[in-house]
Amino acid sequence: MFVDIHCHLSFPEFDKDRSDVIKRLTEEGVGLLIDPGVDVASSKKSIALARDFDFIYANVGLHPHEATLPVEESVFEELLTLARSPKVVAIGEIGLDYHYPEHNRPAQQEAFREMLKMARSLDMPVVIHCRDAWEDMLRILSEESNSAMRGVMHCFSGDTLIAGECLRKGFKLSIPGTVTYKRSLLPDVIRAVSLDDLLTETDAPYLSPVPYRGKRNEPAWVSAVTTAIARIRDIPLKEAAEGIAKNSVKLFRLPN
Ligand SMILES: [Zn+2]
Ligand SMILES: [Zn+2]
Repeated sequence: MFVDIHCHLSFPEFDKDRSDVIKRLTEEGVGLLIDPGVDVASSKKSIALARDFDFIYANVGLHPHEATLPVEESVFEELLTLARSPKVVAIGEIGLDYHYPEHNRPAQQEAFREMLKMARSLDMPVVIHCRDAWEDMLRILSEESNSAMRGVMHCFSGDTLIAGECLRKGFKLSIPGTVTYKRSLLPDVIRAVSLDDLLTETDAPYLSPVPYRGKRNEPAWVSAVTTAIARIRDIPLKEAAEGIAKNSVKLFRLPN
């Protein structure tokens, strides 16, 4: 069984052919999919999709691109209520994204801290988005999290040193389709850590793996990510897929 722990299947990009996409992922052997929210409206859609399919779970989150100042109390109250819905298994996606300078960094940090507190109060794992912001990310995690903090760095983009820091803080690393790109640092990371520390995702509709680059990504293609991990670690595909499925069930406390 393949696992896509981070796929925006509820996004409008899939409105026209969602049932075909679901058919293809089932045929490919994807047996578990987690659909993250990026704000209140999309978190509601994630929850609704999870309600319709046994193998789909939801996350409730606030993407750093959606963070504004002043922080609106009502947004967090609504997210907290949504996070208590059935089949919500984590708070995400949340985090920091410094790639585009126009996005307000203090607002991102404030929202991120608020969402970490929410995850702690609900005893839920967190799904973290971090782009070009590792220093602040690791600092805020140290300040806000306690030893019981669990979660995953989704779409992991750091090097082996950053990977080590994340693992020491209790986080897993989720490998996206970029692992198949020529200049990716991920093969070194995948060799340096234990299989127990790895998860897989597509982040569809974004970041299609080779040979689908440039097309809309879709969850069936998480098989290409798992295949890449098996090849890099020089283990059978079945062993990689089973290990990653086990890690996912454990982190998100899913029924076996
Ligand atoms: Zn993300
Ligand atoms: Zn995402």
